[in-house]
Amino acid sequence: MHYCKENSFEPIREDKYRRIFVEDFNIRFKIPKSDTCPVCDELNIKVRTSDGQHRRQYEYELQLHQRRAEAGQTNIRHQTTPAKSDTNYHVITFDLQEALPMPRLSSGPVFYKHKIWTCNFNVHNCRTGVGHFFVLGCN
Ligand SMILES: [Zn+2]
Repeated sequence: MHYCKENSFEPIREDKYRRIFVEDFNIRFKIPKSDTCPVCDELNIKVRTSDGQHRRQYEYELQLHQRRAEAGQTNIRHQTTPAKSDTNYHVITFDLQEALPMPRLSSGPVFYKHKIWTCNFNVHNCRTGVGHFFVLGCN
């Protein structure tokens, strides 16, 4: 057993940590789904489920949407290059990632009555490559 020297308390073991989260708070651990864009999701479904002129229109809209997203990423890269050599120049990005309901309830109407949502807010310094994550409880 290891003891934390700075605070002189015994850290809890992982199985206890898991048991408390799962049994007392109904929180599960799993690999998160990949972050998908709702616009891409919708247009991909429309492309797959349509044909002819409609399909071509949705393919065009999807391509346009993806080019806009790429342009944003390219802009960040172009802005980051001068920031790497000039410490007075900062490129900071922000991302509010998926809101997760707490506790984990899947029953239809109950799902929408969650009192607490958990959000992961990310602030990334593109010059240093250091990201800071802030887990927020929202209601
Ligand atoms: Zn998208």
